[in-house]
Amino acid sequence: MINEAKIDEEPRFRLSDIFRTIREGILIVGTDMCVSASNEAADEAFGRDSSSLKGMRLSEVIRDFVLHKAFKKAIKKKKSSEVRIEILGKDRKIFDVVVSPLDLSDEYAAICLFYDVTRVESLERVRQVFLSNISHELRTPLTSILAFVETLEQGAIDDDENKHRFLEIIKKNGERMNLLVDDISELSSIEAGQVRVSPAMIDAAKLADELISSLSSQAQKRKITVTNAIPEGTKVYADVVRLHQMLTNLVVNAIKFNNPGGNVTISAESLNEDVAIHVVDDGEGISREHQQRIFERFYRVDKARSREVGGTGLGLAIVKHLARLHGGEVRVSSQLGKGTDFSIVLPKR
Ligand code: ADP
Repeated sequence: MINEAKIDEEPRFRLSDIFRTIREGILIVGTDMCVSASNEAADEAFGRDSSSLKGMRLSEVIRDFVLHKAFKKAIKKKKSSEVRIEILGKDRKIFDVVVSPLDLSDEYAAICLFYDVTRVESLERVRQVFLSNISHELRTPLTSILAFVETLEQGAIDDDENKHRFLEIIKKNGERMNLLVDDISELSSIEAGQVRVSPAMIDAAKLADELISSLSSQAQKRKITVTNAIPEGTKVYADVVRLHQMLTNLVVNAIKFNNPGGNVTISAESLNEDVAIHVVDDGEGISREHQQRIFERFYRVDKARSREVGGTGLGLAIVKHLARLHGGEVRVSSQLGKGTDFSIVLPKR
């Protein structure tokens, strides 16, 4: 059925081999609506135990009304069509399918190409959720800014007692939008592969000291004590700017989600092949179900609480990506009501 091709009289390749091994699934269905040929990709996708589909009725192979109509149209009306089908099995799969008439000289059949778009479709869904989260996150402060500007316009500008308070709210919401845009562009650059890390041997204790002094006023405001327990001389192999950024995110969270008077400790642990830098707090803790999700973009355990303490919901997603860029990872262990231990695990050199 599949003719062999010859180039310069020599059989350099055989169409049947291409047909057999091509990545897209191919089915040829005759006028009796039975499969007259299938390639390996189609057998794998639709066959029982990957056995050949040849001879099976199309309705036994794929139950899909729209696809069947497309086959009938190709065979009876000699017209091509494109359809999208969803196969619900162990793994849900989505295919874009092109069904075209096939002239076999003695009869008309239909040839069908299956393009697996499952991954593309799921990435598209992730992108849509991300976009809708972004617009939601931006809309909240924007609505507040517009409402207070309107209040000022309607006369509150002459109300000496309140106008500064309103301006302060506008400023705070503007800053929140600014932080969000910064974090979104940071995350997109990392995910687009535009961020490279340049690791070097760095002094972890010194880095932790610098970080603690830069966050001291934030810690004091919440009456949190931040301690550096990394022994002097401890070295880690990391990009100094990126490690500073990761630790800042973790320490800021440990301050924000702590109780007044609480403690945060930064320490280092030598593992077999890796070094772990821990940021431990004795704050509110995170339950097991939330621990699995907090590294997702915009995921927060308690939305109202997060709004109150500030933050974009992107910090941990950024830390996760940066740790991976170092060939490491970020881990969490926590007990509700007792506290949380985040650790950045980096390969020793
Ligand atoms: P956010 O900007 O909200 O801090 P993150 O991505 O940094 O965003 O953190 C996601 C969520 O994880 C937070 O909103 C909070 O619910 C939870 N979380 C992070 N760190 C801690 C911590 N040390 N203790 C308790 N909860 C935390």
